[in-house]
Amino acid sequence: MADRMTPEQRHYCMSRIRSEDTRPEMLVRRFLWKHGYRYRLHVKSLPGKPDIVLRRLNVAVFINGCFWHGHECQSRMPRSNTAFWQDKIRRNCERDARNNDLLRTMNWYVFTIWECELSSSKRDETLNRLLTTLRLYEVASKEYRLPVNENVSIAAENDVSYNP
Ligand SMILES: [Zn+2]
Repeated sequence: MADRMTPEQRHYCMSRIRSEDTRPEMLVRRFLWKHGYRYRLHVKSLPGKPDIVLRRLNVAVFINGCFWHGHECQSRMPRSNTAFWQDKIRRNCERDARNNDLLRTMNWYVFTIWECELSSSKRDETLNRLLTTLRLYEVASKEYRLPVNENVSIAAENDVSYNP
């Protein structure tokens, strides 16, 4: 793939590769921590390696970069090799959809946060929506005792939760 990119495109690409401690993700992690939620990060044993996993509530959170994951807010494409980028992003979207379906069949609730939803004007609304969802699932988990995902072993993974 890399050989099909110009240096300019490669730079663009590298600068946007999802790193594990991106600022948008840190915003969400700090928010959850502040509200008393504990979580696991980048859980490899779950489809799509969710960024934040609240195991007790069966909630998986993805923080998606709008460009790579093809969010509707993105209208701009690199001007050269447009077909290449369109194809790549289309495949990312298909993979996201597959992983989300898999997670749902495994009894996980999937909460996706788009990068643009964490802009300073939308951040509060987005984070409060997440909080409301988690509280609903907390109530549900107490009332109905959600089945535990016994087939998923994440306990053995390093607990690298954000600790301010
Ligand atoms: Zn977006």
